[in-house]
Amino acid sequence: MFDRVLIANRGEIACRIMRTCRAMGVGTVAVYSDADADALHVRMADQAVRLGPAPVAESYLRGDLIIAAALETGCAAIHPGYGFLSENPDFVDAVTAAGLVFIGPSAQAIRAMGLKDAAKALMADAGVPVVPGYLGADQSPKVLAEEAGKIGYPVLIKAVAGGGGKGMRLVEAPQGFAEALESAKAEARTAFGNADVLIEKYVQRPRHIEVQVFGDGTDAVHLFERDCSLQRRHQKVIEEAPAPGMTAAVREAMGDAAVRAARAIGYAGAGTIEFIVDASDGLRVDGFWFMEMNTRLQVEHPVTEAITGVDLVEWQLRVAFGEPLPLRQDQLAIRGHAIEARLYAEDVPAGFLPATGTLAHLAFPQGARIDSGVETGSEISPWYDPMIAKVTVHGADRAGALAAMGRVLAETQVAGTVTNLGFLQRLVAEPDFQAGRMDTGLIGRQAGLATPAVADPARTALAALVAAGIAEDMPWQGFALWAPQRQRVALMEGETAVAVDMMARPGGWDVAVGDVTVALRRDAGGWRADGARMPQVLRHGAAVTVFGPDPLRFAIPDALARGGAEGGGDAVLAPMPGLVAQVAVAVGQTVTAGDRMVVLEAMKMEHVLRAPRDGVVAEVAVAQGDQVKAGVALVTLAVVD
Ligand code: ADP
Ligand code: ADP
Ligand code: MG
Repeated sequence: MFDRVLIANRGEIACRIMRTCRAMGVGTVAVYSDADADALHVRMADQAVRLGPAPVAESYLRGDLIIAAALETGCAAIHPGYGFLSENPDFVDAVTAAGLVFIGPSAQAIRAMGLKDAAKALMADAGVPVVPGYLGADQSPKVLAEEAGKIGYPVLIKAVAGGGGKGMRLVEAPQGFAEALESAKAEARTAFGNADVLIEKYVQRPRHIEVQVFGDGTDAVHLFERDCSLQRRHQKVIEEAPAPGMTAAVREAMGDAAVRAARAIGYAGAGTIEFIVDASDGLRVDGFWFMEMNTRLQVEHPVTEAITGVDLVEWQLRVAFGEPLPLRQDQLAIRGHAIEARLYAEDVPAGFLPATGTLAHLAFPQGARIDSGVETGSEISPWYDPMIAKVTVHGADRAGALAAMGRVLAETQVAGTVTNLGFLQRLVAEPDFQAGRMDTGLIGRQAGLATPAVADPARTALAALVAAGIAEDMPWQGFALWAPQRQRVALMEGETAVAVDMMARPGGWDVAVGDVTVALRRDAGGWRADGARMPQVLRHGAAVTVFGPDPLRFAIPDALARGGAEGGGDAVLAPMPGLVAQVAVAVGQTVTAGDRMVVLEAMKMEHVLRAPRDGVVAEVAVAQGDQVKAGVALVTLAVVD
């Protein structure tokens, strides 16, 4: 096996590739841009080489620098991951010319599949069904419009060099054609440096089903299908394997077509044959058509790994090293059902716009495979894909996998940036998806999926306590309490200010949110609102995130961010009867909001009582070892005018 491999990528996929390298005893070299100097993939690698500034054109697309780094560090091979240089045949040629191995298909195979029009023509020759359409070289708007008319509306305009849903336009009727063509070409020119398009019949109510193939240059097998029909902006967001409703006959037909496609180009390595499927009348052997081939490891490969038990990156390394395919077709079988959800930093209501931010907190529960290149403290920068993680679950059947995904997403915690977590939770619970009745238009039709959760009084109340610094945030080590026992704070829910009135009560607070008063009480397990167990809440900077199903995020307006209670000689009160375990301040001491003042032992737990605001300690009424009653003032701050 290779001694050492350079991974020419970043983020989750770089980390994922390194995991397998490590398991196989293969050394790893990472590359990075200035924006990624502290990134997880850099820290995970045995060695790391800086490429250049943040823009991809100056870093992750600099094939020359990457090859030089591989040579300098004594690597035998380069793994490209996905995106970036993974499907760039000129890069493959350069790697090979430098005496290195490219862990992926040949430049020739990539060229054959690189342009959608040429790939479709090749596949049609190989006897693979393709979507009817126009693939001609004549790109004049007049000819294209005529061809669209012949194909019959609706049609899809696609950039021949396209990828990631870019340069693609759906046109419903002839009058919209010219404008759509122009914008598709402009987008394609910018994104791919190639404005050519093809035109395809738009399949109504389509499903996207793709087949994972693997070749060693001589032979090829398939590792069954993935359903990737849940898409937003023509981009996948949830994928699963096997495809719901798949029959043995259709699986065999699609698998055969995919293997035929791979064999036709003498394919070596991991690849994916994407089919568009007419699902208006169930899955049929004559109801699927080749769309394109992705000549690389796919983002959603973990679902295939989950149901087959195969490590696709291990196979990539073995085949690139010259070994034959590790398993024959008849040795491959499907076990259970797997689903992957892509967790992104993105603003869903704004149209799934990529978002940025520093992850104040990131945590996943047990029970899922997490592929991620970030952790608490990492920055989601504007330079690259805003992916946070891929969450993959595996169940004995689809119902089991769905239940697992629901649970895992409900317990996933992200703070510091807007995310699509709530959207993913709603999508997984969506009845048509639950029933396996999906097509690529499902997300677009269900406007409710993108509508953010509305804050309810109970969670708003708890968020206010945490925002004010009254309740400690997770992991609920205790809570502070101080006078005035009544407080009013404001939270921003989007653009809306929410006023919240809080009144101290033994063991908790009564909190009025609008007309509703919520009794928040704390016990050993955390907070309850009117008896119901509450989710965890985290304050991070000037924001508060409520985790759990339909996570909420509030901003804390400036006044509140400075420390909470307004006016008065604020006193720290005993929230319950207890024993003073520690007094951490003295009269005359200057304190900052949040500083530890008194530790009270009560209900077999320690409660840290903190300064409600910046100030000077005017009075300390207790000493260590004192037994105090609920509500008594322990420490008082000097009045400020
Ligand atoms: P998949 O079918 O695996 O979702 P996509 O085509 O959506 O593949 O692309 C996967 C990733 O690869 C994207 O997130 C993007 O980062 C990258 N990518 C794919 N094609 C291109 C391209 N032509 N230009 C830039 N990035 C691309
Ligand atoms: P990309 O290279 O951007 O991934 P694809 O050709 O794979 O482009 O298409 C992306 C998505 O667009 C598909 O997954 C599917 O949802 C939709 N799509 C593509 N072709 C068709 C078609 N002919 N009819 C209906 N939907 C299509
Ligand atoms: Mg595609």
